[in-house]
Amino acid sequence: MKRTIRDIDVDNKKVFLRVDFNVPIGADFKILDDNRIVQSLPTINYLIQHNAKLILCSHLGRPNGVDSKLSLRPVVSRLSKLLNKQVTLIEDIYDKKVSSTISKMKPGDVVMLENIRFYKQEEDNDLDFAKHLASFADVYVNDAFATMHRKHASTFGVAELLPNAVGFLVEKELNAFENVLNNDKHPFVLILGGAKVNDKIKVIKNLFDKVDTILIGGGMAYTFIKAIGGEVGESLLDNSSIDIAKDIIETAKERNIKILLPVDNIGAKEFSKTAKSKHFNSGFFSKDYQGMDIGPLTIKAFKKIIKKAKVIVWNGPMGVYEFPKFRKGTNKIAKYVSNNKGYTIVGGGDSAACLKPAMFKRISHVSTGGGASLELLQGKVLPCVDVISEI
Ligand code: AMP
Repeated sequence: MKRTIRDIDVDNKKVFLRVDFNVPIGADFKILDDNRIVQSLPTINYLIQHNAKLILCSHLGRPNGVDSKLSLRPVVSRLSKLLNKQVTLIEDIYDKKVSSTISKMKPGDVVMLENIRFYKQEEDNDLDFAKHLASFADVYVNDAFATMHRKHASTFGVAELLPNAVGFLVEKELNAFENVLNNDKHPFVLILGGAKVNDKIKVIKNLFDKVDTILIGGGMAYTFIKAIGGEVGESLLDNSSIDIAKDIIETAKERNIKILLPVDNIGAKEFSKTAKSKHFNSGFFSKDYQGMDIGPLTIKAFKKIIKKAKVIVWNGPMGVYEFPKFRKGTNKIAKYVSNNKGYTIVGGGDSAACLKPAMFKRISHVSTGGGASLELLQGKVLPCVDVISEI
């Protein structure tokens, strides 16, 4: 088990806390959704209550050098409101005044470093840069689950240099994935969609010995439909994965694992929100159409399986949900998964974006990390988890 903030002494200590405050920000610098900040509040509040001096660090977007549009200033102001205490923004980590600002901090004080990706050394996991960050603190804590598959200076480098632990959000995420990876309840249903066929195939391979049924929708389904000889028109296709898809279908048969592919689809001639839609039975697409969503018969078939599941893992939308016209399949699956009373886990990113607020409470765990959760489901060890000490 990884060391958590409960296991370390933070009293009067300077704690470097890596959070993921990569929130969507509107044109007027308004935060559109503060969920990522809210998710780390339990960790931040615990550390404040235990007399730590907090040095927060996050990235925001993908800046190329310093970019005022991607400043963490709006985040700092929202966090100050949420904590009901002043949070100071440290604009330049190389400013001579930084060390004196930090040395003057009192227990419970909070400062936040400016967007750490303003520095190129961050993504290079530069050792001198990591040493500079480590010089600010006595202890390192990571609560930025969504970034833990990336070996950057603030997520990995600093963790190597200081006594370390994970925060409550990371602990919750790791426990949730451990729950499904060590699951012994059945039926275990894996629902996969989205576009990255190769990534999702790795999930199937890793979970083959655990699942009873796999429901495949979204763009990845067409590679599987092609693999069994269907006509998919202009649908998204990963030609390099067709043979692997064939193998998966064969192995599933041998092992008595059910794979349900869409039996019908909603297609369109062009990839746009205004495109006219047409219903197609799977494998019988017109040559100039592409699959945009699963069809009503598929939704019905998937519903039946989801209803009886005791464990569900869902990663990836059932269609091009960004266009309202092609969101129906994903919305329905979200509804069925959230109504299931078993253990349900939804991978971050696009699948989580499809959930309505009320659904969050009914789903056992909605991950905050798209890439990180996918890597855990693929059986990989996240490097920034690996670097944290065991208890
Ligand atoms: P992923 O990151 O693999 O979960 O993929 C998410 C993306 O898959 C979303 O942007 C969806 O629009 C896209 N997607 C889902 N269904 C389809 C489809 N039938 N054709 C093309 N893209 C799709």
